[in-house]
Amino acid sequence: MPSADLVALRCKCQPPKSVLVRTDDPRLRANSRCPSCRKYYAIDSDDAPDSAWWAACTDAARMANALALLGTAVSARKLRLGACYVCRTEFDWCRNPRFLDAVAAGEAFADGEIGERERDAAYRWLLGQSARVDPACDWYSAGLRCVLPEGGSARGRVRAVELPADWFREAFGDPFSPVKFNPEWRTDTAVMLARSIVTRRTFDLMPVLSDALMDAGCEDGRVIGHCRSSRPHARGCWVLDAILEKA
Ligand SMILES: [Zn+2]
Ligand SMILES: [Zn+2]
Repeated sequence: MPSADLVALRCKCQPPKSVLVRTDDPRLRANSRCPSCRKYYAIDSDDAPDSAWWAACTDAARMANALALLGTAVSARKLRLGACYVCRTEFDWCRNPRFLDAVAAGEAFADGEIGERERDAAYRWLLGQSARVDPACDWYSAGLRCVLPEGGSARGRVRAVELPADWFREAFGDPFSPVKFNPEWRTDTAVMLARSIVTRRTFDLMPVLSDALMDAGCEDGRVIGHCRSSRPHARGCWVLDAILEKA
């Protein structure tokens, strides 16, 4: 999708931040005025939502908003893996064995490596810790999010996890300039390597994967650059998902 698909709109009465809208938004039509301040809306060119904006953005809520406006699908699998990402990157100090089990179970469940029974066991084990930990604490709710029943929370409310801006880049690449993944890049070597990186958590092998992709004829700077970047990769990484045909 071309980067001109979204613009930032501002009017006189809006708080400092402009709102992201699609270029076909009715507010962009001639004579369209803000119902509150009665002024015409203006396009905020300093805040143009495009690839460069996405690469530098630190406002995760705005990124989620951009994904929705661009029509980029955000699957339940990706969201579950988002909770696992938060656990791995922000709560990696937590040594509660039930928490560690829940994160690993969440990742395995997301990809169908374990079934509903094992997911539920990990969920109940972690729930069983509630007498010992403050249920409002961040790692606890993030851990529960990893192994939540499909379609939401079965019992009680589990607090939402704030997904960081870096996760959006890790999980979706650049939605303003999505890579059309060439099936020829999915060689046996690349697929085997990607599968092994995911299941053994050997994300330090991502540069080796980029070599395999280049051997397969991939010269896309976004793919190769992502594999070679030092950012933390995780299950649900957009390049790994593209190779393994997951969404
Ligand atoms: Zn206004
Ligand atoms: Zn990645």
